[in-house]
Amino acid sequence: MRIVDIRERAIPLKSDMRNSSFDFSEMTTSVVAVITDVVRDGKPVIGFAFNSTGRYACGAAMRARFIPRILGTDPRSLLDEAQENFDPRKILAVMMQREKSGGHSERSIAIGTIEVAVWDAVAKIAAKPLHRVLAERYNGGKFATKVFCYVGGGWYAPGQTVKDLQDEMRRHLDAGYTMVKMKVGGLPLAEDVRRVEAVKTILPADAQLAVDANSKFGREEALAYAKALAPFQLRWFEEPCDPLDFALLAEIAGDYDSPLATGENLFSTQDVENLVRFGGLRPDRNDVIQVDPPQAYGIVQYACTVAMVERHGWPRSALFPHGGNQMSLAIAGGFGLGGAESYPGVFGAFGGFADDAKLQRGYLTLSDHPGIGFEGQAALYSIMRGLAA
Ligand code: MG
Repeated sequence: MRIVDIRERAIPLKSDMRNSSFDFSEMTTSVVAVITDVVRDGKPVIGFAFNSTGRYACGAAMRARFIPRILGTDPRSLLDEAQENFDPRKILAVMMQREKSGGHSERSIAIGTIEVAVWDAVAKIAAKPLHRVLAERYNGGKFATKVFCYVGGGWYAPGQTVKDLQDEMRRHLDAGYTMVKMKVGGLPLAEDVRRVEAVKTILPADAQLAVDANSKFGREEALAYAKALAPFQLRWFEEPCDPLDFALLAEIAGDYDSPLATGENLFSTQDVENLVRFGGLRPDRNDVIQVDPPQAYGIVQYACTVAMVERHGWPRSALFPHGGNQMSLAIAGGFGLGGAESYPGVFGAFGGFADDAKLQRGYLTLSDHPGIGFEGQAALYSIMRGLAA
């Protein structure tokens, strides 16, 4: 049993959306195929995943370091104890050989994307959906059948009116979502507040709204937004400041009673530990941590991060992995996390879930496909299959 090849291809995502900080016109993502010699249903098992470093493909680092390290290692040393499947922990350790401490984001996404593709293969070899494999390993066998899912939407688009934004949110509600998120920080404060107010007026009383500033604000602006947003009792105010400015985040937390959220731009367990130590976040006030597992070394490392935040008194319900895709969905279901994000209608083939996924009252039914379930997402799977051909 061995990995015979690992391939990567950069795919452009051409989009005219923008958040408060940048547009997505140059965005690319790395699609990865981990090709094994294990045969299931008459075909070799291939694990797939995709992701990007800072929104750009990361194949150069994969080809220069991580893929050759895996392919150059004695295949038997990458197997689990029973020699019946690959051991992602050992494969992560091989990729990390001769890597310096620190410097995480230079490599964490390249490594994490390969690592998650390995998990896709591991679950397919076990003939189980990934969320079940993860529940057995990391959540005491508690299987989820559905996951709470909210919409990461409300982007700024050229020529967009407040009514366009309200129409978008109505579409999400009509689709079955009960929580939506919108961008802030891309317009002057007064205009952003009008947008938030406009969305708030069309939400039913039991629906929730969050906002995302994408790390745009310095101290004055962050505190001004916190003050202006407080009356809306948002589910959360996301990334109000630089992801590594824990002192400022703590100051904002001292001044803003409603929940805060951050973590999608932290790429190591140590960075997240610094966040929970020094960021002033409050697990008892429903603050949220949003690490993106494939961008932060993958699932084995995410399990270490989960164990670490639990030691600091955080419940798993406070963890909402970033990335509206089937990888984060399976991880949220498998680990028993608070929920997952969803990007309906954005990021082309890379947004969304299985084509037949059912959303009811804010909960998405988990796929029964072995592995992550990309085979149930026709447009994305045709890109992936092309890479493996
Ligand atoms: Mg965000």
